[in-house]
Amino acid sequence: MIACYFKKNPENKFLNYTEDKFDNIIFRWEWKDIYKTGKYDVYDLHKHCPKCKCILNQKKIHLARAVIAMLWYCPDCEYKIPDIKIQKEHDIIALILHRAENK
Ligand SMILES: [Zn+2]
Repeated sequence: MIACYFKKNPENKFLNYTEDKFDNIIFRWEWKDIYKTGKYDVYDLHKHCPKCKCILNQKKIHLARAVIAMLWYCPDCEYKIPDIKIQKEHDIIALILHRAENK
């Protein structure tokens, strides 16, 4: 749990905001309320294939015994994207929280 979000209004419209596109990848997540704090965490954040929406899995590319690259691939349609082309998870969460403020 990296970040949390304060309740902004009684309707909590941001709770319906659970999917968005960043870096050409579809991200889906859940909002989890933190007991007795009035705050929400982004959790269960997953990357999904932009073509078929399947969950992307991670693959390490080895050279000799060293990991030289990481990529995300779709087990369904074989879409691939290098990990370095996607922003880090804490940045994605920051973007989600920022966009949630305007919901
Ligand atoms: Zn796919």
